[in-house]
Amino acid sequence: MKKEKNNSERRFWFQYLAILVVTVVCLASVTWFTFNSFSRLAKEDAVRIGQNSIQKDGVALNNFLLKKKELLDVAAILMEYELKQESSQESIKSLLYYVSQSYIEGTDSLFSGLYGFIKGEYMDGLGWVPPEGYNPYKRPWYQEAFKSRGGIALVSPYDDTRTHKYAVSLSKRLSDRQSVLSIDIDMSEVFETLGRVRNGSDGDWMVIDVNGLVVGHSNDSLRGKNFLNAEFWGTPHEELARKVLLANGDDFEFSFKGKNYMVFSDIVFDNWRVVKLSDETVLFERARWILVRNIMVSVLLFIVIGIFCTNSFINRIKTLRSNRAKSIFLANMSHEIRTPINGILGMNAIVLKEVHDESLKEYASNIQSAGQTLLSIINDILDISKIESGKMTLTPTEYDLFNVLSDCFNINSPKATAKNLRFTVECDPDIPSGLWGDEVRIRQIINNLLSNAVKYTEFGEISLSVGYDSIPNRDPLKVENSVMLKIVVKDSGIGIHPEDMDAIFGAFQRVDQKKNRNIEGTGLGLNLTKQLVLMNGGDISVRSHYGEGSTFIVSIPQLVLNMEPMGDFASKYKQAATTSNLPTETLFAPNARVLVVDDVALNLKVFRGLLKDTKVKIDTAMNGAQCLELVKEKRYDIIFLDHMMPVMDGLETYERMKVLDTPNRKTPVVMLTANAIVGAKESYLKSGFVDYLSKPVKEWDLLRMLKRYLPEGLILTADDLVGVDGKIPSASKPAGKIEKVTEPAVETPVIPVAQETPAQESVEAPVEPATAPVETAVDPLTELGKFINVRMGVLYCANDEEFYKEMLQEYTDGFKLPEIESAFQKDDWKNYQILVHALKSTSLTIGAEELSKDAKSLEFACKDSDFDFVKENHQRVMKDYESLVSNIKKVMGA
Ligand code: ADP
Repeated sequence: MKKEKNNSERRFWFQYLAILVVTVVCLASVTWFTFNSFSRLAKEDAVRIGQNSIQKDGVALNNFLLKKKELLDVAAILMEYELKQESSQESIKSLLYYVSQSYIEGTDSLFSGLYGFIKGEYMDGLGWVPPEGYNPYKRPWYQEAFKSRGGIALVSPYDDTRTHKYAVSLSKRLSDRQSVLSIDIDMSEVFETLGRVRNGSDGDWMVIDVNGLVVGHSNDSLRGKNFLNAEFWGTPHEELARKVLLANGDDFEFSFKGKNYMVFSDIVFDNWRVVKLSDETVLFERARWILVRNIMVSVLLFIVIGIFCTNSFINRIKTLRSNRAKSIFLANMSHEIRTPINGILGMNAIVLKEVHDESLKEYASNIQSAGQTLLSIINDILDISKIESGKMTLTPTEYDLFNVLSDCFNINSPKATAKNLRFTVECDPDIPSGLWGDEVRIRQIINNLLSNAVKYTEFGEISLSVGYDSIPNRDPLKVENSVMLKIVVKDSGIGIHPEDMDAIFGAFQRVDQKKNRNIEGTGLGLNLTKQLVLMNGGDISVRSHYGEGSTFIVSIPQLVLNMEPMGDFASKYKQAATTSNLPTETLFAPNARVLVVDDVALNLKVFRGLLKDTKVKIDTAMNGAQCLELVKEKRYDIIFLDHMMPVMDGLETYERMKVLDTPNRKTPVVMLTANAIVGAKESYLKSGFVDYLSKPVKEWDLLRMLKRYLPEGLILTADDLVGVDGKIPSASKPAGKIEKVTEPAVETPVIPVAQETPAQESVEAPVEPATAPVETAVDPLTELGKFINVRMGVLYCANDEEFYKEMLQEYTDGFKLPEIESAFQKDDWKNYQILVHALKSTSLTIGAEELSKDAKSLEFACKDSDFDFVKENHQRVMKDYESLVSNIKKVMGA
């Protein structure tokens, strides 16, 4: 239980984690993608802004310088004219003065006048008089003008003696090749503009000329320095200056003092470079913000999704747990309720049989029918809780469709007859007769629909029609054929409102309560039916005309094992009915020889007891070797061979027997096993066994097996019986009787014994009053009932109390504790497993359910090599075994 719980919860947690991981991955990818694309765009944007701004600065500086150049050009033209006119120095001076004044007035305040060295005399447009020793030949403006050979020279910045300002000059040599005209440009205001913008925003700026001379810099102390001079070699300044000159106006990245910069530059007049360094962290601030914003949005989204997912998963787990708790509760309760109901029904059956008063009889039969109804409700609840908790599994077997349909007819026709309803069955005679599927569930589906049809129909008729469609086999490797069974249950009853059509398949849904108020029901039947149909891979639908009747249509795919057509249902049913009209069928085979091989004496004794009245001749063997000896000597009509035996197990014995030359080469061999698992039958059949019987062996199963496999001539009919030993077997205790009631056989398909205990099976097949253990219970057994399930034990002993007592004796005589203990001490797990396996089945045979279960867990632990479990539980189980045996001895001896 715990394991299943963990499994389903683990499955949910796994789903949860998977979704969480997928969500995280998706969100991370989306964030990454958005961040990448946005930051790339933002970077591009920032770079573009940087480029634009440097170009703007470049254009501004260029215009500024060009404007000054134009002024100088115009003044130079005028001066050339004066020189050509050979005007006097005075008139040249006044021209210089006049032009300077008009420039100052007409242009801007940055203009600091014209000056020059003309015809050997320094002249100043603003009237400045040079200090003593002022030598124009040594001034940069004069020297540079000569270098530019008639062009306009841009003189590198210097501290002007005249204006005491940091200035650059434009100068031009005049045509007399001696005179130079110059104009000072005060850069401070231009640079201030650059600096203001730069410092206020994002970093350093500079203007350098083509030789690396710093014309302007955001750091004043660097102004006028040359970054390509020796003073700066190996410094970042030199590297920057070189890169700027090489970049030719392109931008590039540059690291300086651990910071990364984007360097933007533009080329202006005289190849000056205006350079701007933008700190990348500042530059890409926007991109960073976008990233932060995206991450925040993603995290928020993730938290919201996470909360939502976690909530829904927690709710789901809670629902799962509460559903499981509900299912466990229901399963437990159902089991708890079934047991007493079974008792009530058993006792009531006795009352029904014993009582002669008609009204009491009626009461008793009311109790019987109410009890049966209660039982079927409990069974439905148990099935639904099994489906809900995922514990319901399908158990496919080979089955005969005709048997299923005729049983369904048999079960429902008395109820239909009681209501004066016509009940017809129509079957396609070509339906393959042998199918493979979960026969029990197919019966349940048909019976549920038929019982509803009877329940909700007051007049008219109900019908069951069965047809099929072949399912084409598309898989060339598959040899089996399949059919789609079509089961239609129709009635002329109250019908269903169109709006109720969907509701009827819900759990606990009863519709049209007004009309149905006198009809008993829980609203579980159709829900269960639908779930069973779906589990079988089928489909169910309903059509109805309110007030006129309903038609339920079910289609279920089934494998075909026997293609032989079923034939006409009606004639087949008639034929079967004639033979089955006998109330009981006796099995009496005094000439049959049976060999039973089992290492447990008690099991052999059970066999003998169960077959006592059939008068078959029984030989027994307690191991494989004895079996081989016997089969060499005698011919048997059927052999029952136990699977799990020490030294040589049933399979090995069978293999050896097959290769021996014995008179039993054709004798059918049935495997006896206590571990009847799904699919086991097929594997036994493959090995050559004709069938298998689950232990503890039930009387009706054993007799059916004999009837099926003994040669016909050996089974005597009722007529034959007279004269065999002069009398018909006792009517009160016909041990060789095969119950004609099909329920036990029908309701107990190949189901793992571990899941369907005989106690549960017996609920569905209440014991006949004449043989009910309650009736025959005497004091020792009542006393024994405190320790074990006496009733179950008696049932396993053909309802024969005396036989049961013999089995108890056998059980105590065959006390195996010392052997089990010795195997345990020696760590001889192989033998230990065989011994506890035997303890499991013998204990179950006498009704010691708990001990049997404990022995089973020890056996399975051995099988799984879980010896720690064995060591932990061995002492306890053995103590229980010992005290059970001593209790039985005490009670039976009393
Ligand atoms: P219930 O135990 O009430 O019969 P079911 O699950 O079998 O529960 O059916 C659910 C409801 O569907 C019933 O209460 C009834 O109203 C309706 N129903 C089922 N079968 C029929 C039918 N053959 N004719 C009319 N109504 C039906």
